[in-house]
Amino acid sequence: MKFQDYVYTRIEMDDLRTKVQDFTKQLEQADNYEQFYKIYTATNDLFDHVETMMALNEIRYTINTKDEFLSDETDYWDNHDPIYDDIRTTFLKVVFASPFVDELRKNVPETFFLSNENQLRAFSEEIIEELKEENRLTTEYDELIADAEIEFDGKTLSLEALMAYAENPDEEIRKKALQAYWGYFAEHEATLDEIFDNLVKVRDTIAKKLGFNNFVELGYIRMDRFGYHEKEVAEHRRQILEEVVPIVQNLFKAQEKRLELDRLEIHNESYLFKTGNPMPKGNASKMVQIASAMYHEMAPEIGEFFDFMVSNNLMDLESKLGKAGGGYADYMYDYEAPFIFANFNGTSADVDVLTHEVGHAFQFYSARWIRPTDCIGASSDASEIHSMAMEYLAWPWMDRFFGKDTEKYYYYHLANNLKYLPYMALVDHFQHEIYRNVNLTPEERKDLWRRLEKEYLPHKDYESISFLDKGTWWFRQSHIFCDPFYYIDYSLASVVAMQFWLRMQKTKKDGKKAVDKGIMNDYLAVCKIGGSKIFGDIVKTANLTSPFEEGCLTDIMKQVEAYFAGVDDIALDKE
Ligand code: ZN
Repeated sequence: MKFQDYVYTRIEMDDLRTKVQDFTKQLEQADNYEQFYKIYTATNDLFDHVETMMALNEIRYTINTKDEFLSDETDYWDNHDPIYDDIRTTFLKVVFASPFVDELRKNVPETFFLSNENQLRAFSEEIIEELKEENRLTTEYDELIADAEIEFDGKTLSLEALMAYAENPDEEIRKKALQAYWGYFAEHEATLDEIFDNLVKVRDTIAKKLGFNNFVELGYIRMDRFGYHEKEVAEHRRQILEEVVPIVQNLFKAQEKRLELDRLEIHNESYLFKTGNPMPKGNASKMVQIASAMYHEMAPEIGEFFDFMVSNNLMDLESKLGKAGGGYADYMYDYEAPFIFANFNGTSADVDVLTHEVGHAFQFYSARWIRPTDCIGASSDASEIHSMAMEYLAWPWMDRFFGKDTEKYYYYHLANNLKYLPYMALVDHFQHEIYRNVNLTPEERKDLWRRLEKEYLPHKDYESISFLDKGTWWFRQSHIFCDPFYYIDYSLASVVAMQFWLRMQKTKKDGKKAVDKGIMNDYLAVCKIGGSKIFGDIVKTANLTSPFEEGCLTDIMKQVEAYFAGVDDIALDKE
């Protein structure tokens, strides 16, 4: 069935409550485990349906935030999602109190209990109004970003489309484009400050009403972090500061030299080569064609999955006005179908979407056999492994996208992934400080950002966009508004995914379009187990080392540094 034929109907919460109450009664009267599990499964199917409707609306809304019906339905979900949480957690409590719970424990993945126990700790009837407020505020942020219509280059552009000019060969255009981009945030500074201030306060209230000391503790629970905590994450950030920041600063120095500049101003930061960034050839449909051939050659399982996505229209790739920002993959239980959302803008980021989001979507698809369905999707620390590893698995095929720019692309891709590590740690560090010190004023928050930014990204030169010198870069980071504490996940996963890259380098046979069998089997295995294991065990399944293990980061950085030392980037820039 094609995506446009998927049927959306609003879920009336009173009906749902009645149905679930009925199931609850049956569950309480169950005589044996088989009966109990059957009723549990039927209720779960009902929840899957609710979540399918929620996802379907959200996908369609993010594709077109201007549609009145979809916008109204989004408001409906903002107000009713907390009521759904109430219905679901009430039911879960009965499941957990059942005499058959020990039997259930033996028959389902451990993450089912870990994650649902978190759900119970993160919810109470007393916070329903605050949750509605939190939803309303994140939607307000999303709409502010999606509403942007900026006149530039004789066109009306979205923020995402404007960002493509940051890679334009003409320095003056890059500068003007970034000034226009950040001008939009400057114009809405007061609104953004207010949305965030309200979000911080409402999240703090929610955490305290639930009995936590602050929202940091609740944030970790919401993110399903198992096997590590604040201390380990702080240590990971420290390692990044010590071991990655110097390498990244060298990469920026090298870029400065290639561009023949005496300083790297912000509008030149995304422009890596004097001869231009690597650009993919062809439009979206051409790239999908190339991707399709690539996935078929990579592994039959992945090829079959990609055909499923294409033939059912489960991707919306091109940037357009009124479309929400960013890219994501989602999953709809009723249809056993993933969805990929992106904002193609003609840069190499488009190729990264076709690998990164495909990695996420393929994980959902290959784990769709798992029951309970709660365990199909992995927690985000682990799920970013599937996506980031796929970016590297696709390297042997990159010449089809980039032609003569292929070697440049390799440098660009790895350098960017490395440069993101300090940024990820910065976003994470900032959020810890914000939620530990909720009474900071908006000005103090911006000062805090700028102070931390100077530690993690000391090269930042904001002379051409002085607005950023106030500490406002994070305004563009939707996770800080909408998905608190989602960010260090990228860093943890990136360290794991880089190990896939290292293994690919070691098994590389020039010109051969294939992934070594052992590597591919490990990748397929982690996709297949989905969310049925916790982060550390997923890493082990892939035969890789956890970023929390001593020496892990040091070892990887040594090899990455050696790689860069072996690339003549000046020669690369002459081609
Ligand atoms: Zn991702």
